[in-house]
Amino acid sequence: MTAFDSLMSITLAPYAAHPSASRGRVHDEPAPEGRDAFQRDRDRIVHCTAFRRLEYKTQVFVNHEGDLFRTRLTHSIEVAQIARSVARRLRLNEDLAEAISLAHDLGHTPFGHAGQDALNRCMQPWGGFEHNLQSLRVVDELEERYGAHDGLNLCFETREGILKHCSASHAAHLGELGRRFIERTQPSLEAQLANLADEIAYVNHDVDDGLRSGLLRVHQLHEVALFGHHHREVLKLFPQVSERRQIHETVRRMINELVTDLTTHSGWRIAERAPADIAAVRASVPLVGFSDAVAQRARDLKRFLFENLYRHYQVVRMTNKAARIITELFEAFVADPRLLPDDHRRRAERDLHRAIADYVAGMTDRYAIREHRRLFSFDEA
Ligand code: MG
Repeated sequence: MTAFDSLMSITLAPYAAHPSASRGRVHDEPAPEGRDAFQRDRDRIVHCTAFRRLEYKTQVFVNHEGDLFRTRLTHSIEVAQIARSVARRLRLNEDLAEAISLAHDLGHTPFGHAGQDALNRCMQPWGGFEHNLQSLRVVDELEERYGAHDGLNLCFETREGILKHCSASHAAHLGELGRRFIERTQPSLEAQLANLADEIAYVNHDVDDGLRSGLLRVHQLHEVALFGHHHREVLKLFPQVSERRQIHETVRRMINELVTDLTTHSGWRIAERAPADIAAVRASVPLVGFSDAVAQRARDLKRFLFENLYRHYQVVRMTNKAARIITELFEAFVADPRLLPDDHRRRAERDLHRAIADYVAGMTDRYAIREHRRLFSFDEA
């Protein structure tokens, strides 16, 4: 154990993921200098191509609809911020929580969930398309940055966190990494945390973006306890400031309530179970979570967003267009793989449909729109 490792083991709780006890990488590498294995993973993620593409991928609103809406990149950064602050309070591994958060959406298609659903429909006869599996595929296979291997060769713990969900049929082909979906055990606390940080980030920024876009109205949101409670308080404290500032004050307080509850309740559950190490964490019930009351408030907000924002007719019009673009691109490439750019065509010789799904999934919103025009319109070459 180096001096750095022993310092880490003082600051980290015994139940945290310790980099010196990592289950390792698929391809052996010498240990990094000046940083640990999870910090190296985080750095590899920040430098990869798929990470930069997140800037031009939709969260709910298509990238060109406005400059102020969240993209997958800003979403991922918000997730990492939340995960890190909770990780520090619980003495979990901040770097691992950050690495998982920054990578969790790398496999997302253009146009958010509409894109993913369309691509999944196209891929049904060939194993389907799941964005969590695709995020893993990006870091394991698709990134081309190293001479010696495909992918980023990340640690087991980082890959475990990236693979948040997985169907049992896919899990069977994933070896060690798929085991927990078959045996129904838990991932590290850092992975459990990144998952909930994702939820805290998106419900709150979707409220903010939904109001900013005008698709949601403040008075509608008063039916949601989490929003209504804080908004009423803000109106009392700051009756004179602009509505926009009142919304920001409200969202800030909502995030704070969720983060504080998550930290307190998880800390309490961990203390109660007192897992001796990460192996005990894996064998335990989930230990990172909200209290029942706050979990219910978060569920109510999610339901509200589902009914009022994600199903808003203007969002549905956009998602419909997006689904059509994805489906038409996929079908055009299947019908004539010669349309594919050279490197993707070479991959297609090995596995036609998966290579096309990889190509389409890797597109940014605007690239997909342009590629669609190039294939279907005479106005663009
Ligand atoms: Mg996410």
